[in-house]
Amino acid sequence: MPSACDACGATGKPLAKVSLGHDFFGRTYDRLTPSSDRSPAWYCPPCSDEKRMQLDHRAIGEAVRALAGGGASPLAEPGERERAAARLEEIAARLKAGGFCGKLLGVADVEALRDELARAGAGAA
Ligand SMILES: [Zn+2]
Repeated sequence: MPSACDACGATGKPLAKVSLGHDFFGRTYDRLTPSSDRSPAWYCPPCSDEKRMQLDHRAIGEAVRALAGGGASPLAEPGERERAAARLEEIAARLKAGGFCGKLLGVADVEALRDELARAGAGAA
């Protein structure tokens, strides 16, 4: 059991592992998931939240790029673009509200992806 948060380095806080069961689209994480996600890291409470937001941001980003490239994407399912957009808005609002170390995910990254998602959806029915 480590004594410091793997993201912000805080000590003396309760640390927890972020469970990686399913991603934002309900898909099980596979073995191709980057090793940083397979080796469990320990996070303090705000960093655990930030890590979950980072993982959702990444899953949505991959889906947006797949959609933009004309490939199969979970965002092609009815309602999923709206759900992803709402989640990005929620993440941006929470990051702006503060309390996170910001080492895992920045507001600018979230807003850039939100715009990318809007553009990727613009041409679809
Ligand atoms: Zn932390």
